[in-house]
Amino acid sequence: GCDAGAVAAAIREAAAVITEHRDELVRLDQAIGDGDHGENLKRGFGFVVARLDESTPDTPAAVLKLVATTLISKVGGAAGPLYGTAFLRAATALGDGPELTPELISTALRAAVDGVVARGKAEVGDKTMVDALVPAAKAQGSTVGEVLRAAADAAEAGAESTVPLVARKGRASYLGERSAGHLDPGARSSALLLRSFADST
Ligand code: ADP
Ligand code: MG
Ligand code: MG
Repeated sequence: GCDAGAVAAAIREAAAVITEHRDELVRLDQAIGDGDHGENLKRGFGFVVARLDESTPDTPAAVLKLVATTLISKVGGAAGPLYGTAFLRAATALGDGPELTPELISTALRAAVDGVVARGKAEVGDKTMVDALVPAAKAQGSTVGEVLRAAADAAEAGAESTVPLVARKGRASYLGERSAGHLDPGARSSALLLRSFADST
C-alpha cells in the first residue's frame, strides 16, 4: 500500500536522487542561470530528511506538507517557493486519507502543477519546469505506479523539449536567444523527482 511510511520513503529516495544529480543541476544552471539550482535543492531536501528523521507524519498529505513547508522556508531562489507550492497543493488535494490511490495521485499532480503555474505565471514553451510538469499532470493509470511512470515519462520528454527553446521566464530569460540550446535546470529536476517517485512505487 501507499501509506505515510511509503510516501516518506519515496521522499527520502527523491532526496538521494537530488544529491546524486546535484552537480549536473548546478552545471545546467551555470549555463543559463546563476548555478545554484543543484545546491539549493540538495540543501532543501537535506532539511526535509532531517525533519523526517525526527518524526514521520501520520498521513501521506502530512508528509507532503512537511516537504512543502521545509522547501518554502529553507530554499531560496525561484525553485524553492515553486516546489513548495507544488507539494502544498498536492497535500491539500490528497485530503486526510491514510492511503494513496491512482485517482488521488492524478488529482494531486494536477493540483501541484496548477499551483506552480498560478505562482510562477509560466506557460508551456517558456523553458521552465512547467514544460516538464504540465505534460506530467495529464498522466493517468490504474495503479499508483502506472500514473507515476506515465508522469515521469511525460516529464522527461517535456524537459528534453526545453533544449531548443528561448527562455521567457526566470533568470534564463535575461540571456534572450543565448538561452537556446540548453536543458532547463528546473525542468530537469522536475523530471528527476517524478522518475524517482515512479521508481519508489
Ligand atoms: P534562481 O533562478 O532564483 O537561482 P533556481 O536556480 O533554484 O532559482 O531555479 C531555476 C529554475 O526555476 C529554472 O530552471 C526554471 O525551471 C524555474 N523557474 C524560474 N522561474 C519560473 C517561473 N516563473 N515559473 C516556473 N518555473 C520557473
Ligand atoms: Mg539558479
Ligand atoms: Mg539563485
